[in-house]
Amino acid sequence: MSNQRCATTGKAAQFCFHCSPLGWAKGILNAQAHVAKAKEYLPPAISVEGLLALRAATSHCYLCGEKLNWDDGPHLDHNHKTGEVRGYAHGSCNIIIGHLNTLRDTVGRGDRTQTINVLNMIVSNWIED
Ligand SMILES: [Zn+2]
Ligand SMILES: [Zn+2]
Repeated sequence: MSNQRCATTGKAAQFCFHCSPLGWAKGILNAQAHVAKAKEYLPPAISVEGLLALRAATSHCYLCGEKLNWDDGPHLDHNHKTGEVRGYAHGSCNIIIGHLNTLRDTVGRGDRTQTINVLNMIVSNWIED
C-alpha cells in the first residue's frame, strides 16, 4: 500500500489528493511543519480537515484573483508570526508577500502607507526585462 503509485500522476498514491485526500493533507502539513521549524516560524494553523475544506472551496489565487492550477502546486500562504492561514496563492504571487514584508522593514520604515508609496515608485520606474 505504502509504495503504490498513482495511476494518473505517477506520484506516491498515499500523498495524492485524488487517491488519498487525508494522506495528501497530512503530507502537506508535515512538510510545512518541517520547513517552519527549520526557518523558526509558526506553521500554518489549520487542521487536516480544514485544509481539505479550504482546497475544496478554492479555485482562484487569493492574491491576484486568477485561476489556480492544482497540478502546479499552489502555495498555502500563512502568517509566519501567528500561523493564520490566508489562503491559496500562485507561488509567483505568494513570493511577492515575502518581498513586501522585506520592503516594509527596510525602505518602508515599518509603515504600510510608506511601503505602498515606495511600491508605487518601483512600479512607475519598472522597465521590463
Ligand atoms: Zn492519484
Ligand atoms: Zn496569483
